[in-house]
Amino acid sequence: MSIYTGPVFEMACRQFETIADHLSIPADERRHLIMPKRSVTVSCPVAMDNGEVAVFQGYRVQHHLTLGPTKGGIRFSADLDIGEVAALAIWMSWKCALVGLPYGGAKGGVTVDPYKLSKRELEGVARRYMQEMIPFVGPRTDVMAPDMGTNEQIMAWFMDTYSMYQGNTVPEIVTGKPVALGGTEGRREATGRGVAFVAALAMEHLSIDPNNATAIVQGFGNVGSNTALELAARGVKIIGVSDHTAAYYDPAGFDPHVLTRHVAQHGVLKDFSTQSLIDPNDLLTQRCDILAPAAVERVITEKNAGRLQCRILAEGANGPTTPDADAILDQRRDEILVLPDILCNAGGVVVSYFEWVQDLQQYFWDEKEITDKMTSILGRAFHQILARTIRDKISMRTAATAIGVKRVRLAKQQRGLFP
Ligand code: NAD
Repeated sequence: MSIYTGPVFEMACRQFETIADHLSIPADERRHLIMPKRSVTVSCPVAMDNGEVAVFQGYRVQHHLTLGPTKGGIRFSADLDIGEVAALAIWMSWKCALVGLPYGGAKGGVTVDPYKLSKRELEGVARRYMQEMIPFVGPRTDVMAPDMGTNEQIMAWFMDTYSMYQGNTVPEIVTGKPVALGGTEGRREATGRGVAFVAALAMEHLSIDPNNATAIVQGFGNVGSNTALELAARGVKIIGVSDHTAAYYDPAGFDPHVLTRHVAQHGVLKDFSTQSLIDPNDLLTQRCDILAPAAVERVITEKNAGRLQCRILAEGANGPTTPDADAILDQRRDEILVLPDILCNAGGVVVSYFEWVQDLQQYFWDEKEITDKMTSILGRAFHQILARTIRDKISMRTAATAIGVKRVRLAKQQRGLFP
């Protein structure tokens, strides 16, 4: 019996089993590698604007503590459960190991629809969640960051709440903070910038000219908008975008700066245009060079994987492709190159790591230095995965996850079993 249930957790387990088979890991060691080390569930009572007290469920899952503190985002989402949080923590572990960061994976969140809260209520949820988590987190234990439904402001409230309890300012307790509070230059753009950089390496590999290439981006929050902006800056035409309120498609292309201004003003893409509206399900199967799902899990499924018409699937979101869809895409390996999430969106955690390092030493770098260091790490990982893909005739996901799992496994073996 496990407390972790649900389709997203099952998906992380299925993916792991594939890798464990590939690496011939014995059965008893598999459980040791996959099961999260710690999970914390908290109830967060918050005084709402209507005078009532609402109670929100919060979670934090720390997957493994073998390589250093755990690291991972906080998600505010209406249908969040502990299984989804655990799956995201596990993926963070493989991702951090893949790109060589001294962290285990973690993830957390609150079951709440942030779009339905006033700013005061949102602050109440954020502060109470962090206050409840204080005994379980710390700069050397577990470091939080933004994810879906959270942002720099929420990280600022987390940092302030933690610091007030400690009696001194502790910027290194979270990453993705505003720059003025010890955040790093380039963190806001990092994940999307990394997605575009890895997609550019893939275009180079496939001899696709960015100036003749097109892209469709699902999700227009932090990752989606920055992916669109960075791809456009490289000459790629953005022909489709969507968020949870609307989807648009136009072969003539959109200016992502105009879309970004619309979202900054209205909060969502809704009412951007009436002419280019498209059914959100149809958006993913339009012909394009790069399809970048940058919203939620499990959007590429066995139902649409056979109909995708992209050359590159650049996974900005965590877990956008189900294992059944993966099996179909594996058959289509000559048509579609899948850039797996743990590589493609790793720019975020790489720059979060830089933020933590800068906070710990109270010495800050400029944006160029940060972006250069990030792209050098992502470039090395991309080429390492590509070489393995070609050598072993396996998918990019299998190659990437195998590298991550192998590193965590080696660290566990070298430390030995305690006591
Ligand atoms: P965000 O809250 O800033 O944006 C999420 C976007 O997805 C919003 O535009 C929202 O409207 C849209 N969306 C939600 N449901 C949708 C649906 N069903 N169809 C289309 N669009 C939908 O979140 P984010 O930080 O950009 O995170 C997006 C994804 O990227 C998540 O999977 C997250 O785990 C992953 N990720 C984020 C980071 C980061 O640095 N923020 C890093 C790595 C991975």
